[in-house]
Amino acid sequence: MSMTKIILTGDRPTGRLHVGHYVGSLKRRVELQNSGDFDEIYIMIADAQALTDNMDNPEKIRQNIIEVALDYLACGLDPQKSVMFIQSQIPELCEMSFYYMNLVTVARLKRNPTVKTEIQMRNFEERIPVGFFTYPISQAADITAFKATTVPVGEDQAPMIEQTREIVHRFNYVYGETLVEPNILLPDNAACMRLPGTDGKAKMSKSLGNCIYLSDTEEEIHKKIMSMYTDPTHLRVEDPGHVEGNPVFIYLDAFSTDEHFSKYLPEYKNLDELKAHYTRGGLGDVKVKRFLNNVLQEVLRPIRERRAEFAKDIPAVYKMLQEGSIIARKKASATLEEMKQAMKINYFDDKDLIESQSQKFGQNN
Ligand code: ATP
Ligand code: MG
Repeated sequence: MSMTKIILTGDRPTGRLHVGHYVGSLKRRVELQNSGDFDEIYIMIADAQALTDNMDNPEKIRQNIIEVALDYLACGLDPQKSVMFIQSQIPELCEMSFYYMNLVTVARLKRNPTVKTEIQMRNFEERIPVGFFTYPISQAADITAFKATTVPVGEDQAPMIEQTREIVHRFNYVYGETLVEPNILLPDNAACMRLPGTDGKAKMSKSLGNCIYLSDTEEEIHKKIMSMYTDPTHLRVEDPGHVEGNPVFIYLDAFSTDEHFSKYLPEYKNLDELKAHYTRGGLGDVKVKRFLNNVLQEVLRPIRERRAEFAKDIPAVYKMLQEGSIIARKKASATLEEMKQAMKINYFDDKDLIESQSQKFGQNN
């Protein structure tokens, strides 16, 4: 028996997408889309989730929907093969979240390491919005509504998938086999699981302003790379340097290929040789950064150019999202029907219920 293979993944419209998204998830999505191995692919712009920590800035979310959609198209997501849609247009997701809330404890939510870090990052302290605190539950609704089997995301999302699997188990145990358990699909290259920021912080993140965006100009990319954080102990060229935790080398791990070396830095055969020289001492940061600049410019140029093409017809991009949202809503609504049946809250289309209640009250018809 061959099981239906379904992908669900997405992004928060809190900014344009950056190279961390590209290596952590976007690139993989496009490969999976084009592999033809999947029956259905859903890509969600998570505006409702973005509002959980931006409730006072709806204009920011509104502006970034189109930016994210353009980034999708620029990277090669194709509306003929992948359904791109907007979360808030699928009210069924809220309904599911409401029922899932009964299956999760407050203690369990408090243990989520990603949410913990994000709460610290946002300085919420005691004033965490309930919506933000419970977003892993709403994410479980996003995933299960589409019966997703595969969720290609960065490492920071692992606790969310774990939480989703627990909700699926609990739901199926209590109400009977209904929901599908999703599997996380992490990048195969460790450097891509959580790309650090240009400032050396652990994660490149729209909210931290330490990003190289897919839509940055050639000059912006160059400037950001040349001022990147590197090894603070590598003061003079002669000094031995560290490659671990050094974002310049982590980006090279994520992006550079042997062909890049033969094209832009033929003195070295590959990244291992470059790393060995840096570690030994005698290799300056500027030279490594120049190479990284060449590599990233080559990767990002075609994406930027395609983005500019799609940006020429913005109404068409909105139309694509609207059509995607209609398709996505149909799927979510079918799943919700099954859930309601399992949860016994389908009163009016349950003939047996009406019949047995009639008998209980002594009516024979
Ligand atoms: P925000 O700061 O608003 O949370 P973000 O930059 O974390 O934004 P998200 O929209 O939350 O971006 O994440 C979208 C997807 O990109 C997720 O799959 C996430 O795992 C992945 N991702 C985000 N940042 C990185 C990164 N630095 N490295 C690898 N993957 C990442
Ligand atoms: Mg995030």
